[in-house]
Amino acid sequence: MGRRKSKRKPPPKRKAIMPLEQQFNCPFCNHERSCEVKMDKTRNHARIACRMCEESFQVSINYLSEPIDVYNEWIDSCEEANTAA
Ligand SMILES: [Zn+2]
Repeated sequence: MGRRKSKRKPPPKRKAIMPLEQQFNCPFCNHERSCEVKMDKTRNHARIACRMCEESFQVSINYLSEPIDVYNEWIDSCEEANTAA
């Protein structure tokens, strides 16, 4: 009597839900992907901070805002600060 081959079902493939890109290059220390965006949509408020140089920026958001928008706002405000100085 041979052993029955047990039919192993392959594990069900879970759809990987890719989180939105939330890490960006820092405009201050130029580290790659060191800036992380935290969105607080219940308070319409977001914060981006660099974990390398600890620069941070806060901005109001709306329900349509994406982390990249927060980052772009930060870059814009940096450029404004540069031209003002
Ligand atoms: Zn930085």
